[in-house]
Amino acid sequence: MKGRFEGKRGLVLGVANKRSIAWSVARRLADEGATMAFTFQGERIEANVRELAESISSPLITPCDVRQDEDCTRAVAEAAAALGGLDFVVHSVAFAAAEDLEGRFIDTPRDRFWMAIDVSAYSLVAIARAAEPHLAETGGSIVTMTYLGGERAVPHYNVMGVAKATLDASMRYLAWDLGAEGIRVNAVSAGPVRTLAARSIAGFSTMEAIVAERAPLRRHIDAEDVAAASAYLLSADARNVSGTILYVDSGYHAMGM
Ligand code: NAD
Repeated sequence: MKGRFEGKRGLVLGVANKRSIAWSVARRLADEGATMAFTFQGERIEANVRELAESISSPLITPCDVRQDEDCTRAVAEAAAALGGLDFVVHSVAFAAAEDLEGRFIDTPRDRFWMAIDVSAYSLVAIARAAEPHLAETGGSIVTMTYLGGERAVPHYNVMGVAKATLDASMRYLAWDLGAEGIRVNAVSAGPVRTLAARSIAGFSTMEAIVAERAPLRRHIDAEDVAAASAYLLSADARNVSGTILYVDSGYHAMGM
């Protein structure tokens, strides 16, 4: 399906390294013709992100801490300027303190509860608001990354589950607001994929093992599967799809037992 994104311009948030879901999505979109700007958080990963982004001829790699409104508006404005417009945004950002992904949810302190929601859910609202005028010109599209732990209790996922529930609801409200301008907003709900963020979830290997045992397809997914689903949602093939969650989890979400 080469060429679906020929001439399309996007902003990608959430690449930390080559294993990041955002990077798999970006590579897939680049293969299909897209040109993309990238954000990174923290100097520690800048060189990494720069090297990856430059390998697909990105015209802009810029810092963005999504907790800062100014960073969100600046990064989106810089991307639209560097690319000459904006057709899509990939939001693939989340954070919770490692100690809140191992013990009991009930022990989550107030500050870290709000931090997880701030980084993992409010960031979508801030970025969408900044991107709205640019996407409205192109009838663009936004995709974010979610997980079943926002709909069901998944041991250890804890406060991140609450953040994903907030993200899912935000995605639907954004779909309503922005749909008036022809902008679509959707989420991909991925099964476990070994990334930097996944490593901080205690019992991640158990999550993987349970999917392999109990999902209808009895196998893991990989980041390329998430990339293919994201590309579909961002493409014109999904022109009448908005406010939805597309599950890429070997069917695990369909099971009750
Ligand atoms: P990752 O660690 O590669 O990506 C997470 C990204 O969030 C990193 O690039 C990190 O820099 C960024 N980030 C964290 N705090 C930030 C801040 N304050 N400002 C800006 N960026 C910040 O891990 P990933 O697994 O690729 O995660 C991407 C998305 O996919 C997340 O939303 C995650 O919850 C979701 N997801 C992952 C899985 C999985 O199993 N890996 C499953 C379902 C959903």
